[in-house]
Amino acid sequence: MTETIELRIYKKYAHLLLQPYEGTEMGQFVSVHIPVGDTKLQKVAELTKQIQEEHNDFFFLYSSIKREYSKHELDTAALLQMVIKTTFEPAGEECGTLYDETTSCDICGANRKQIGPLWLKRSSIPKKDIARTIAGEVVMSDRFAEALTETKLKGVSLEPIQFQKRSSETYYQLVASAEVELSKDTVAGVNYFDHSETSDGEIYKCAKGHTIGLNLLSEVYVEKNEIIHQNDFMASRQKIGVKRGLLRPEPIYLCSQAFRNVVQAENITGLTFEVAHIV
Ligand SMILES: [Zn+2]
Repeated sequence: MTETIELRIYKKYAHLLLQPYEGTEMGQFVSVHIPVGDTKLQKVAELTKQIQEEHNDFFFLYSSIKREYSKHELDTAALLQMVIKTTFEPAGEECGTLYDETTSCDICGANRKQIGPLWLKRSSIPKKDIARTIAGEVVMSDRFAEALTETKLKGVSLEPIQFQKRSSETYYQLVASAEVELSKDTVAGVNYFDHSETSDGEIYKCAKGHTIGLNLLSEVYVEKNEIIHQNDFMASRQKIGVKRGLLRPEPIYLCSQAFRNVVQAENITGLTFEVAHIV
């Protein structure tokens, strides 16, 4: 596995880290991919602090962690993380989906209860086999839903989505019926350089343990449990994200090789896999 951090650095500060030939210009930013372990990352941390203190400004605006696996690593993993690549809106709440907020945590806002079917706007759903709304509702094509049902994968719960305008296509909401515990090895935070647990009144790490951080930063580590071997699709009990407007903390989704096999056999679009670890 290779792990790199993509940073979009403000062009006016890029010379503090990079040679003129390094990185790719993107408007007012320079994008650069730095391997984890490179001493440049330590320098980024120092520059971030320095520019904050001296100019009350950001060194970089955006960062993301990218992992690339060999076929062998993915083929032999005992557990996989299912990563949904596309996000869309409007969210269910804006289209008439009802939620009971009284069940949600008063600290982090996780665990509200959906009441009844998921309502969405048909025309806003991306042309992928799987996608998620900004509020974390997972939507799946008829094709993908059928493939999972035919294979009798365990842990998959599907309910038809409702639309105000009649549609010839059917979409399903995907929910995991099994839940697993993340281990403390799973790292979450604002970004690679900032592990703040709260900011501007927002709570990123819940004292009650529901939400563990704003973004997932490491690979996923799951506590050993027979539930993992009894199911093909699972959600983590601990959530990632924040309560902000329509946004809510969301689970991480995990799946078996059987689930991945269906995705590969049917050329399912809109998702990718990372290796998850059982500890
Ligand atoms: Zn909470």
